[in-house]
Formats: sequence, C-alpha cells, structure tokens
Amino acid sequence: MRAQKTALITGVTGQDGAYLTKLLLEKNYRVVGAMRRASTLNLPRLAALGVADDVELMTLDMQDFISITQLIKDVVPDEIYNLGGQSSVQASFKQPLYTAQTSGRGTMSLLEAMRIIAPEARLFEAASSEIFGQNPVGKIDESHDFHPRSPYGVAKLFAYWSVVNYREAYNLHASNGLMFNHESPLRGMEFVTRKITTTLAQIACGRQQQLMLGNLDNARDWGFAGDYVEAMWLMLQQEIADDYIVASGETHSVREFIILAAAAMGMQIEFEGEGLQARGIDIKTGRQLVSISQDFYRPSEPDPLVGDASKAHKQLDWRPKLDFEDLVTLMAEHDLVRAQSGQVWY
Ligand code: GDP
Repeated sequence: MRAQKTALITGVTGQDGAYLTKLLLEKNYRVVGAMRRASTLNLPRLAALGVADDVELMTLDMQDFISITQLIKDVVPDEIYNLGGQSSVQASFKQPLYTAQTSGRGTMSLLEAMRIIAPEARLFEAASSEIFGQNPVGKIDESHDFHPRSPYGVAKLFAYWSVVNYREAYNLHASNGLMFNHESPLRGMEFVTRKITTTLAQIACGRQQQLMLGNLDNARDWGFAGDYVEAMWLMLQQEIADDYIVASGETHSVREFIILAAAAMGMQIEFEGEGLQARGIDIKTGRQLVSISQDFYRPSEPDPLVGDASKAHKQLDWRPKLDFEDLVTLMAEHDLVRAQSGQVWY
C-alpha cells in the first residue's frame, strides 16, 4: 500500500482551505493546516465541513521567512498548497503593502524554503484572474497578457512569476492555478456574493432594511469553490508542473446575482435607474431593498473577465459540477436557513 502523503495548506481557515482539507482527508492524506497566530481558535469553516478535528493545526506568518522554513522542516510535506495571504481586492486598496508582503513576497519565501529544504515536494499556488485586468478579446486563456488593476493583482502577479521562475530555474514542481472567482456558503462576507446572500437573508427575516452595494454592472466569472479545489489537487498529480486557468467560462453581473439570490429566497427584485441612482425594488411590496453607495466603488477595476479552462478540462480532466444558477441557489438557501434559525455568520 502507498505510504500516506502529507499535505501542507497555508491559509487553512479560509473558504478554500476548508474545502481542500475535506477533499484531501477523503483521499487519506495527513493534512497539516497553517494559520496566523490568534488568541482564540477561529475554525468555523473547517467545523462547518466537519473536519476541524482531523487537521493538524500549526501557526505561520507569511511575512516571516524563519517561520516558513521551520514549518516546512517540521511538517516534511509531499504537497504544499499556498492559499495564504490577504485575499480581498477591496481590502488591498486600503492595505497595499500588507497585501504585497503576504500574497506576493510570501509566495517567494515559500518557494525559497522549499528549494532549500524540500525540493522534492510539489507546490500549488492559488494565482488569480486579477492579474489579467484588461480583456479586449473574448475568453482568457493561459497566454493572455497581464495588466493587474489593484494592489492585490500586482502582488499576485509577483507570486505568479515567482512560481514560474522557480520551476524554470530550479526545476521545482510548482504550478499556478489561475483561479477565477470562486464562491460558496463559506465565502467571506467581504466578497460581494456572500454579502448579497447574507444581507438578503436578513431582509427576508425582517432584520435588515436594505442591501447597500457598489457598481451593479460589474461582472465576474463565478464558480463553486468545492469544484475548484479538485483542480488544485489534480495539478499536483501531474508528472510535469504547469499553469492552468480554472474558470466557469461564463460571466454574470452583480445585478444578475442579486436577482437570482432573491428569487431563491422567494423575493422578486426589479431594478430601475443606472449607476449611483440604481435602485432594487421588491415587486410585491414596492419597498426599496437595494441601494448604491459610492463607498463600495473601487479606484480601478478589471474589465469583465471570463476564463477559458479548456487546458484544465483536457489535461487534468477537470469538470466543475455546479453552474452559476446552482451556486447562487446553494448560497442563498444556506444563508436563509442560517438567518431563520438565528445562527451567526461565518
Ligand atoms: P473580486 O473579484 O475578488 O474583487 O471579488 P468581490 O466579490 O470583492 O467583487 C466582485 C465585484 O463586485 C467587483 O467588481 C466589485 O466592484 C463589485 N461590487 C459591487 N458592490 C460591491 C460590494 O459592496 N462589495 C464588494 N466586495 N464588491 C462589490
């Protein structure tokens, strides 16, 4: 029988960390999860998937090279999944240097530690569609030009090239998954999809009056996180490391997301007006449920990005199971149940 493999996941407390932990435990891995030091253990996402007790937790500071090398030395990983770092585009405009340290330089530190201590290990980097930014042509594949439009995108571009460089220079098995937006009931509330489903659920239960958002016309290629962690694992099972787009291949606007999420909770929302004057009205009651605030507009935004995951389909045999409508419904129904039973959000 094959010896049990050890996987090290940085950023294990996040959405992807939870789904990936579950997947790897099902595949009989020893899973070591690294997280920032905190005074209280904060594991709601791992707990929600029933895996909080089965993952070995260790602390890690992505800004501290010594802490990274010590961790790799202690864990002796076969596979490293780098999901750590500051991951909100919106927050990166407020904390650009922290984002660069954790999401950019942190990746290079991890690669450098791997080169010195564990050159036989395999590394997955959660690269981001935010490194593209401009999209004059149709779907984006792996050969598309880069032009990040946020400090987060800039940091992730540094991380992306670090992976490519360490692969070419030192022959490390390091792969970039160019992940387009991926969501789930475990998505952080700073992201628009989860902000919409949690707030609409509160409105449906009469605990909140309105959903306040930024630009409703912005569009994203949204997939399901549970499907995307499968692609991460598949990349590390290939003989040769490579870079892959992971995307649904469809783009939808924030407005479309709201309409579908509301419908899944039994509300019908119709929009009138444009830009800052846009309003979402509940057709049954005539009440205004959605309004716009300049505060949620960003200094710069990518063009609508839609990914072409043909290479992942072909070479990894990766197939997502949930489409956009399934995803919105899953999130909306989950948050409605939580709101109705008065459970706290995660
Ligand atoms: P991102 O693609 O990683 O930036 O994911 P987000 O979920 O944070 O944002 C997706 C899109 O929704 C962006 O184009 C935002 O400008 C837009 N958006 C509109 N209103 C909001 C809002 O209130 N919060 C967030 N986070 N995004 C918003």
